Amino acid sequence: MTSPDAYIDAHLQRFLSDFAELIAIPSISTDPSHKHDVQAAASWVAERMRRAGLQPSTVGTDGHPLVVGRHQAGPDAPTLLVYAHYDVQPADPVDEWHSPPFVLTREGDNFLARGAADDKAQVILQISAAEAALATTGLPVNLILLFEGEEEVGSTHLTPYVKAHVEELAADHVVIGDSMMFAPDRPSLIFGTRGMAYIEIDVHTGTHDLHSGQYGGAVPNPAHVLSRIISSFHDAEGRVAVEGFYDDVHDVSPALRQAWAELGYDEAAFQRSAGGAALQGEPDFSTPERLWIRPCLDVNGMISGYTGPGKKTVLPAHAGAKVSCRLVPDQDPEAITELLRRHVERHAPEGVEVVVTGHQENRPWRAEPEGKLYRAAAAAFSEVYGVEPVRVCHGGTLPIAVDFAETLTPSVAVMGFALPGANMHAPNEWIPVSQLERGMKVMSRLYGKLARGD
Ligand SMILES: [Zn+2]
Repeated sequence: MTSPDAYIDAHLQRFLSDFAELIAIPSISTDPSHKHDVQAAASWVAERMRRAGLQPSTVGTDGHPLVVGRHQAGPDAPTLLVYAHYDVQPADPVDEWHSPPFVLTREGDNFLARGAADDKAQVILQISAAEAALATTGLPVNLILLFEGEEEVGSTHLTPYVKAHVEELAADHVVIGDSMMFAPDRPSLIFGTRGMAYIEIDVHTGTHDLHSGQYGGAVPNPAHVLSRIISSFHDAEGRVAVEGFYDDVHDVSPALRQAWAELGYDEAAFQRSAGGAALQGEPDFSTPERLWIRPCLDVNGMISGYTGPGKKTVLPAHAGAKVSCRLVPDQDPEAITELLRRHVERHAPEGVEVVVTGHQENRPWRAEPEGKLYRAAAAAFSEVYGVEPVRVCHGGTLPIAVDFAETLTPSVAVMGFALPGANMHAPNEWIPVSQLERGMKVMSRLYGKLARGD
């Protein structure tokens, strides 16, 4: 019997040709003309799972199918559920690609293709890791690979499926395999993402726009009213000034903040990625802390009055703004929406109509970064990469993490193998060749460590 590592080394070329085959199926979930390609990719994934020694099933939905691959190790073994997705974004603008987007192309140390990083490499490496374990030492955990074909269009049918199949999907641990590492050779475990409360504010003064000469100075201007409301959202130092906004915000441990201070977070690179924008935010927090563990409130858009060429002397009858808050544990998006509504109403002057409409609410997610899954994954990463992974959070919103944590198990970790700047959703998406191989070796180690409870 050989080891999973030796098996992966011996079969790597075959795994990479699998990767090329999956890439060649343009499973663009948003484009109805590619519906049969998404279906073909699902069938391909199911067949590949079967060849790996897993029991696959394809679950039809009103949208694109889910593919579930299972291995039973026994009632006493822990169950690991791994999530990934086999659908991709469109390849546009196609003429900016260095190579045809649906042909896996090697450029130096990288593979280029639509879906290379997001998320087909991770689909391939998860199946290959299971095969390597099954073909050598055995796969000592109950494994459920849950791959969807609708991630790029909002995962519409995933959550209802998970909620309706809680017993079949019962897992001790969940790995979300759809993300990137902190930096090259700096693997990461993501243990938190921010939630969201999204509102729209509309200020109305009358039924129609008015001549500024006939009415200016004698009636309220909704653009001025809206500006005052917006400027009331923050204090002079950049804290959100909505009463009660921070009441449920939890701090992370001093040890974690210390570790982040020593992370070598590249502020200059972050600033470049922000188009050169100055870095500022809540006092007493670093840039990564502002993104990862602090909530924020931002105006996403404003509209009022005449914005065409030249001039038009008009008093608008309406002004509107779209406002999003990124939330952290334990802020409740519904409660935050209510606080925003009250704040806006308090700052609305007499004689104007101000309406707040809630648009979207997602809860934040945070796991215990020293839990069993995190310890096992950290050990697996350390053995393969030679360094301890960094435990970080993510400023974005990941509703499936909340769903898994609330319906299956709180032991959820996001661990991905793409690298920052991978051009996900953009031309020339890439992933280093070595990341596939190392990803397979990390995952095959993780099974054993979870089974032994290391
Ligand atoms: Zn993805």
